[in-house]
Amino acid sequence: MSAAKPAQKKPRGRQFFANPGPTNIPDSVLQAVAHTTVDFNDGAFLEVYDACLEGLKRVLKTRQHIFMYTASGHGAWEASLVNLLSAGDTVLILETGHFSDSWAHMARDLGLEVRVVPADWRRGVDMAAVRAALAADTAHVIKAVCAVHNETSTGMVLPLAEVRAAMDAAGHPALLLADTISSLGSIDFRMDEWGVDAAVGGSQKGLMLPTGMSFTGVSDKAMAAHKDSRLPKHYFNWTNMLARRHKSFVGTVPISLFYGLQESLRLIEEEGLEEVFARHSRLGEAVRRCVQHWSGNNGPQLFCTNPGRFSDSVTAVLMPEGHDADALRRTALGRFNVSLGGGLSKLSGRVFRIGHLGDLNEPMVLGTLSVVELAMRLEKVPHAPGGVDAAIAYLAEAA
Ligand code: PLP
Repeated sequence: MSAAKPAQKKPRGRQFFANPGPTNIPDSVLQAVAHTTVDFNDGAFLEVYDACLEGLKRVLKTRQHIFMYTASGHGAWEASLVNLLSAGDTVLILETGHFSDSWAHMARDLGLEVRVVPADWRRGVDMAAVRAALAADTAHVIKAVCAVHNETSTGMVLPLAEVRAAMDAAGHPALLLADTISSLGSIDFRMDEWGVDAAVGGSQKGLMLPTGMSFTGVSDKAMAAHKDSRLPKHYFNWTNMLARRHKSFVGTVPISLFYGLQESLRLIEEEGLEEVFARHSRLGEAVRRCVQHWSGNNGPQLFCTNPGRFSDSVTAVLMPEGHDADALRRTALGRFNVSLGGGLSKLSGRVFRIGHLGDLNEPMVLGTLSVVELAMRLEKVPHAPGGVDAAIAYLAEAA
């Protein structure tokens, strides 16, 4: 009989979770989620529920409608498409990276025609190309423009105000659908001001909640379009939802997540939404200064080469040729208990991602960067040592 395998040693201390989502959950949110079960029609819960919806609207910066789902972000993507469109309708996808590709894939699977404005993933979509695609559609075949506000796979933002301006300049009546999954509650997003018709968000990133709840902010214009949409739907059907007290959720309401949301909204509003954005911007810049320093000696580089589009919630780091990002991630996690994000689709093995969104502060960011530098030494990845010092110097200046 072979001897039993020795149990794997559990690393001491907290894991540093530096993935770009799911993100760290504050202790007070964890405690709030651990609420005893209550009836979701109970009056006390309904008060919490209604307050959460109002709070979420403040974070989305909208006074319009909101529909909630027990689903991750993919569910909200699907809900938005099936509630607004009909088989054979055309959508224009602005290419940003893995997540715009996935949304396009979903649209095709649902029976929609997909046109893409292609883009270099390192520079982001060219607004002139967006304007040209809209201007060329004189027959207004395009019914919706789908834009990922913050592309989590590349660490790049898409200026939605410019997308809206391009649509207005072309006099194009399409709906504007925006994915705010990795921007909401960490990078400024203004649904009403930017004329977004459907804003898709999820619980597990800037809102600092467990995964499992997502939502769509919906404009009046989109509500009117919903009435004509013919794609099949049931659980996600907004009309079915409106018939219920909660005006969302065709099935059981996930009450625990609402107790958590009440607390995470309290935390966000206690800090102040604009302060939350400023903190993300400061921490994001510290990470970028560090990576820019490492890039000396043919070291790793910022994947995004367009400084106007740097993301303040996630940084993708491109490994030097011949070095495996996943080997580095394994060392960071296996030896030092630091979890980094991996490269997605064509960036697999070439890129690792540092998430800097949600419940995060300077020591957490500096700790993560220190371990990346340590892992690079161990993995013999060329780099200019001292990136963490560059981050510290910036933070001292910014404090
Ligand atoms: N869109 C973006 C920008 C994302 O970052 C993600 C997930 O990370 C998704 C969509 C998909 O969301 P989910 O994994 O919650 O289904």
